[in-house]
Amino acid sequence: MKILTIHADFIEIHAKKRAFKAAEEIDTKDQRVEECLVVFSAVEKNDEKNVDLILEKYVAEVKKIAGMVNSKKIVLYPYAHLSSDLASPSIAVHMLKDAQAKLLGMEDGFEVVRAPFGWYKAFNVSCKGHPLSELSRNITSEEKFDLKKEGKDELFVFDDLELSHEKKHSFTAAMLVAKAVKKMYPESKIGGVSFYQDRAVVDFDNLKVKESQLNKIQREAMSQKGNFSFSKVDVDDIGGSQGLNDLQKNIAKDISAKEVIDFGSFKLVSLFNDPVLEAKVISNLKIYNLSSAYWKNNSNNNQLIRFTVKGFSSSDEFDLYEKNLREAQDRSHIKLGKELGLFVISDLVGAGLPLLTAKGNIIRREIIDFLWKLHNGTNHQWVWTPHIAKSALYKTSGHWDKFGDELFKVSGKGDEQFVMKPMNCPHHMQIFDSMNLSYRDMPVRMFEPATIYRDEKSGQLHGLSRVRAITQDDGHLFCRVGQIKQEVAMIVDVVRRFYETIGMDDYWVSLSVRGEDKSKYLGSDEVWNIAQSALDEAAKENKLNYKRVEGEAAFYGPKLDFMFKDALGREWQLATIQCDFNLPERFNLSFMNEKGEKERPVVIHRAISGSLERFMSVLIEHFAGKFPLWLSPVQVKILTVNDTHAKLAYEVATKLRSHGLRVEVDDRVESIGKKAREARLARVNYVLTVGDKEVAGNSLAVMKRGSSGPEFGVAIDAFVTQIVKERDDRVI
Ligand SMILES: [Zn+2]
Repeated sequence: MKILTIHADFIEIHAKKRAFKAAEEIDTKDQRVEECLVVFSAVEKNDEKNVDLILEKYVAEVKKIAGMVNSKKIVLYPYAHLSSDLASPSIAVHMLKDAQAKLLGMEDGFEVVRAPFGWYKAFNVSCKGHPLSELSRNITSEEKFDLKKEGKDELFVFDDLELSHEKKHSFTAAMLVAKAVKKMYPESKIGGVSFYQDRAVVDFDNLKVKESQLNKIQREAMSQKGNFSFSKVDVDDIGGSQGLNDLQKNIAKDISAKEVIDFGSFKLVSLFNDPVLEAKVISNLKIYNLSSAYWKNNSNNNQLIRFTVKGFSSSDEFDLYEKNLREAQDRSHIKLGKELGLFVISDLVGAGLPLLTAKGNIIRREIIDFLWKLHNGTNHQWVWTPHIAKSALYKTSGHWDKFGDELFKVSGKGDEQFVMKPMNCPHHMQIFDSMNLSYRDMPVRMFEPATIYRDEKSGQLHGLSRVRAITQDDGHLFCRVGQIKQEVAMIVDVVRRFYETIGMDDYWVSLSVRGEDKSKYLGSDEVWNIAQSALDEAAKENKLNYKRVEGEAAFYGPKLDFMFKDALGREWQLATIQCDFNLPERFNLSFMNEKGEKERPVVIHRAISGSLERFMSVLIEHFAGKFPLWLSPVQVKILTVNDTHAKLAYEVATKLRSHGLRVEVDDRVESIGKKAREARLARVNYVLTVGDKEVAGNSLAVMKRGSSGPEFGVAIDAFVTQIVKERDDRVI
């Protein structure tokens, strides 16, 4: 038998048609399973000789892999293409059914789904992509399991940096867990202790535990607080490395350890300086994951049991962490973006270069349109600038040195070197420079939502929130020093109206000013003082909740950064207003003043949403995909009960569309229950159902998202009026 396992975010399976007559009967053609281990399986001719043994090994192997990747959901997927020597279908289907029953019967609490046997199927799977997410096995009656042999030992490395408070809590919690494990399983041997984000990761050899025992271990770990003590001992004082288990000896050798930490029941060679705190500071701890890992990351070595542990200093901190974790999982913009079809990440296009679908682009366009609308009456000029420029432009601006290897360089036919723009400002400076202005024309205000390109490290790229093509809703205000305050006040007003409309009105503002050492900053004292007090006064007069932070200004000028809290209480720096005395200098910008002399303008950089990509990721998570009507890609979905209702459904759709509303009609031959469920999952704002009653009364059954039931007999015109108002008022 051949199997290929994929640890997946989700798999969608669609049964298309029977491959042969004896294909099994099925209730549903479509299945979608999330957070699962997909086991593509091909039962082979040879297996027929030893059905029971192969079945037993198959089940054991699936269980083992599910344990390794910590998955409770299993999808058994008959996949003939893994072998050219298949067993007879009747044996194969029985084997898979039996395997399902056996796995379901285990105390591990597996959920087991089977993809239909004997059908041509389409599938769409999202592989998690970690080292264990794709494994293949050949299961035979003779040999042992055929593990892919690869790799060599990775060395342990000492980390000299001081651990954060949070990490020390987690490390200490992991040591409490280790004490508990050692007490409950005296034969076990502790291996390395490291970190995954702020959680500690601790490995054990010679240990078998099940997920169901975690609670007990956790309880025991907490009760170890009473007799928790530790001391540092010189390696020499314990007789060289005599007192260490073989794993610790190995670690000590890798890092040439001088000391070990003695916890009484075990000794540990730490990869960090002073990682342990007194046990009394741990109020709560939790084991977040039980998995397995090869010793020194080499699949030729023993598999160790791995605990991932986090410690907390108060139960409030623990509760908040748990709550945010639950919500963040449900709201992840990557998960929701896929489910709602908002954006696509393509390997061929490249990492950090997400593609927006039509639906995703609706949200982006609505944001840009709204931002522009908020600038109504402020005399802004919407400009456009190309995506590349000669390197000379950025050498003049200083960005060539500042961005260094983050610049994407482009060459053409000639010798000239071009770069993808990492900033829009220098381009706008060139427009200003061409204008020949006098003091009467000041200030000049430019607006341009424009994409800039930076080669971020691929490890840091994440969905829409960290990308390589970043669209700033950029703007530059060129003004006189005495105009800074009025300009800042105008932008503050735009920022406030924008975020009030979005419903993110919980924010504070950081006013960054010069520090003591004035030599670090460019520009005269006089100009700095005017600019700083202009920002200060603008913040005060607009009643911003702001803090003055000394020494945080950029070298080129003071700034206001707006820090927003989203629905999960996470803080984001989004809007920013920055004075700049440097760029006008570098580009030698000027206008003619009252005395007929050239005067240097100040430039104010400002962004309202920050980057549109990151802002979209914040919005998706803030709203959990339930966008207010004006932002929603699909505002109304009309469901027909059967074909006789299609005419009215399309008439209503046409009417709504004539008001610019985004409407879909679902007239498939499916049960109304199924259609309604899908519309709900798509988080559509209004679901209208059209059946006999509605056709007879020329009315609608209207179900608003989040309401407990539909409202029947709604007049069509009344609905149109109401929904248009809701959109135009941008009701949240
Ligand atoms: Zn700028």
